Amino acid sequence: MHPHVKKLLELQKVDQEISSLTRDIDALPAEEQKRKRKLEDLERALNEKKLLQQKAELDSRALDKAVRGNDDEIKRLNERLNIVRNNAEYQATLFQIEAVRKARDVTQDECLKLIESLDVHQAAVAAAQAAYDGEKKVFDEFLGEADALRKSRAGAVGEARGRRQAMTAGVPPDLLREYDGLYKTRQNLAVAPVQAAYCQGCYNKITMNDMSKLMGGSTIVRCGSCQRILHI
Ligand SMILES: [Zn+2]
Repeated sequence: MHPHVKKLLELQKVDQEISSLTRDIDALPAEEQKRKRKLEDLERALNEKKLLQQKAELDSRALDKAVRGNDDEIKRLNERLNIVRNNAEYQATLFQIEAVRKARDVTQDECLKLIESLDVHQAAVAAAQAAYDGEKKVFDEFLGEADALRKSRAGAVGEARGRRQAMTAGVPPDLLREYDGLYKTRQNLAVAPVQAAYCQGCYNKITMNDMSKLMGGSTIVRCGSCQRILHI
């Protein structure tokens, strides 16, 4: 085997080790964002429910105040009945009382409906709060686990990266760059074995000429199909 390919093959083993150590850690930020968005959606839903509840409370209080205002008006009109000077004025006041009483009844109906709906709003807020609290707990646990995972891996990853750095000594920079590019774009397999004249990276056949070069071990041979660096 060409000595540089031998080195790259060892380097690839360390790179695969680093990849498996960091694969789940690398996925953490995206996962965190996803969970955060979900939590924010639940928080928004909770705030909307709270606003609806507040509005129903305020509206019911305003209607209640209006009903009490009508009651005062009716009381005042009833008192006037005692001091009216003629029958026409008496009749007019009775009509007025009737009109205010009708308006009062309509407002009171609306007010009662709103007061009844307060229970429904209360339940909706409680359900939204429970959903948010549940998700917040899950999110906080996730953050804790993610942090613990990062910390537990930091030592092993740092050690492997240090080893990798030492192993690149003696590999020509151009070849190292080519290897790094292939490692990223060829599913963590830049240096591929050849078995029975087939590249094990892409399963295409290697030419007779390349096979004999590989046997010779004095030149670096690449797969004609996937450009991976080959070894046997
Ligand atoms: Zn190939």
